[in-house]
Amino acid sequence: MAKKEKMKTPDWILEGYDSEEEYDKKKGVKKEKKSGKTFNLRRCPKCDSDEVGVVVGEESKGKWECRKCGWKGSDIKEDELTEDEFMKYLDEKGEETA
Ligand SMILES: [Zn+2]
Repeated sequence: MAKKEKMKTPDWILEGYDSEEEYDKKKGVKKEKKSGKTFNLRRCPKCDSDEVGVVVGEESKGKWECRKCGWKGSDIKEDELTEDEFMKYLDEKGEETA
C-alpha cells in the first residue's frame, strides 16, 4: 500500500483550481468512490421499486419477487450506493433515517 500524507495540500489547490471536481475534470481523472461503506440497493427491473425480497423457500436459487407489482425472477437490478448516496436515497423516499 502506498503511504499517503494526510496533511498534504491537494494538487487542485496548489494548481489554483476552484474545486477538486474541476481539477479532476481538467485532468481527466476518474475517481472511484471507495471510501467507507457501500450499500447494495436491489430494485425491481419492472417497476423500479425497492420493495423486493427473496422468494421464501427459493433463496438458494436466487429468486426474487416484487411486492409492489408481483414480478418474479432472478435478474434483479442492483445498484451499489455509497453511504451518502444511500442516505440521500432514503431521504428522497421520505423515510426516517434517524
Ligand atoms: Zn415491481
